[in-house]
Amino acid sequence: MTVFEVARPSLREVPFYAPDATSCAVDLRDNANLWGAPPAALAALRSIDPTALSLYPGVSAGALTDAIARYVGVNPTEVAAGCGSDDLIDATFRAVAEPGAVLAHPAPSFSMVPIFARLNGLQPVAVPLTPDGAADADAMLATGARIIYLCSPNNPTGTVTPADVVRRIVRESSAIVILDGAYAEFAPGLEDLLKEAPAFGRLLVLRTFSKAWGLAGLRVGYAVGSAELIRAVRKSNGPYKVNAVAERAACVALAEDADWMRARAADAVVSRERVTQALRALGLTPLDSRGNFVCVPVSDSRALAARLAERGVAVRAFAGLPVFGDVLRVGMGPWPVREQFIGAVREALACT
Ligand code: PMP
Repeated sequence: MTVFEVARPSLREVPFYAPDATSCAVDLRDNANLWGAPPAALAALRSIDPTALSLYPGVSAGALTDAIARYVGVNPTEVAAGCGSDDLIDATFRAVAEPGAVLAHPAPSFSMVPIFARLNGLQPVAVPLTPDGAADADAMLATGARIIYLCSPNNPTGTVTPADVVRRIVRESSAIVILDGAYAEFAPGLEDLLKEAPAFGRLLVLRTFSKAWGLAGLRVGYAVGSAELIRAVRKSNGPYKVNAVAERAACVALAEDADWMRARAADAVVSRERVTQALRALGLTPLDSRGNFVCVPVSDSRALAARLAERGVAVRAFAGLPVFGDVLRVGMGPWPVREQFIGAVREALACT
């Protein structure tokens, strides 16, 4: 029998996004909001107008991009919304680079970035973070990449790249620079460049409703940049990427749940500081995270994650990362969750 290959040859080499599926009573594998969903958005979903289901939503989520523009303080033509910020990363790669172009990204960083690059025929080039976890500007610039992706606070390390470094990378390259701020709400005081992005022309800042806003299940993200860049992203993304139900909830959240969001983000920051201290007290050396998670280097992340899972706590294990080696990434949650995690680590370390 002739083997008929349906996928294009270069797709065969691209891995599936397949995070470890071990689930436990306490699940700290994702960086979603473990304090739940925002109350006004939830109420709006419970009384949704049925036409939101029977009719098409706006082609480019106009009501939501207007609301985001007001919230951020930019023009609606400088905002694009998508099915999570994943969707916008993917659409931007396709919008601004021809197949074969180089995309530089920090390593370690968000694991979907090299995958989306290869899905779009781009050549991902991993540039190790500096030892303090910032993007290495000189090395990024030396790649001559068409796209430079940056993530601050960075997933999975939680470390940040100062805004001045981002500005320098934009100034000294001719690349389209993407600054992924999925965790920016957990780093108050960190300059985020959101409002400044349109004036740079080549800088796109990404944000999401999946983390601080507690709406990961609805899949809504947004991008802010110059009108020209946003137009290209929207064209590449295609129509109807934000469904009507998600759009309604995100609009209500922006209008009525911002205080809730800030309070829960502050809870996550407190949780992060306490967990960091508790891990230090156990002799570990967690990184200085500004996200809603803690990243802790360990000697064998998979073995330790397995011992934590036996104790009912699931965390994300990364093995052999550039710069940091094996790490556990642990999402933050309310007090009982935090206590269970620390208790499980104490026991797991005691039996090594
Ligand atoms: N960027 C970063 C850095 C992330 O960690 C994630 C989710 N893990 C995303 C983007 C995608 O988020 P979403 O598609 O839910 O907006």
